[in-house]
Amino acid sequence: MRTPLIAGNWKMNGDLALIDEFAGALKNTALPQGVQIALALPFPYLSAAHERLPDTVLLGAQTLNPADSGAFTGEVSGRMLKDVGASLVLVGHSERRSLYGEDDAAVLARVEAVLEIGLTPVLCIGETLEEREAGDTERVVLGQLEAVLSALSEGARQGLVIAYEPVWAIGTGRTASPEQAQAVHAAIRARLALWSASLADAMQLLYGGSMKAANAAELLAQPDIDGGLVGGASLQTDEFLAICQSA
Ligand code: PGA
Repeated sequence: MRTPLIAGNWKMNGDLALIDEFAGALKNTALPQGVQIALALPFPYLSAAHERLPDTVLLGAQTLNPADSGAFTGEVSGRMLKDVGASLVLVGHSERRSLYGEDDAAVLARVEAVLEIGLTPVLCIGETLEEREAGDTERVVLGQLEAVLSALSEGARQGLVIAYEPVWAIGTGRTASPEQAQAVHAAIRARLALWSASLADAMQLLYGGSMKAANAAELLAQPDIDGGLVGGASLQTDEFLAICQSA
């Protein structure tokens, strides 16, 4: 059995007050046993979140520079993220790919850097609306998967979490139907099985794209959906905790 993981992605949102609101809400909410909860926060808030949130909330960053240190003005390395309490790093989010030009090679370098420092990469993959309408969903999604996983050792592959996020569902209010999401998750798991059955069995596959309290339960009930990567709804404590409760 795979452990469910609900990960919030605040993107460039939130503040110290929201961290305190989460800390308060988590004290008063009984969450189901055995569900992992994570929040991927903007860099400046990681230290405060580490101090103010319970240890049961895993902390994540939303990207990193693959270098360990050096003359890279404005950048943050995996070592620094680990130092301030992060355990996960989102890699290859569609906004990083489309707005900051991160291609498969850049995504691979970041996944390798996260693994190297001993943190967990959450590799984000997903097709655009155009690609879906052209019937290219599996080719695109599995291509993004292979570009990274083919370059890793079997041991390294075991260290990943994968998030399937159809680009057309991100921030649009247009969620993939449970059947659409399950079909792609099943294709991802079948591709993982070509590397190894144990990899396919163990891999946590998250769905992301307009997940909210009202649609989480039916998405999370699908056999190959092991959790969620939640953007907008992770900025509201009641919504986010309701999603966690339906996992
Ligand atoms: P959304 O974002 O839940 O607001 O659609 C998900 C994501 O970008 O990870």
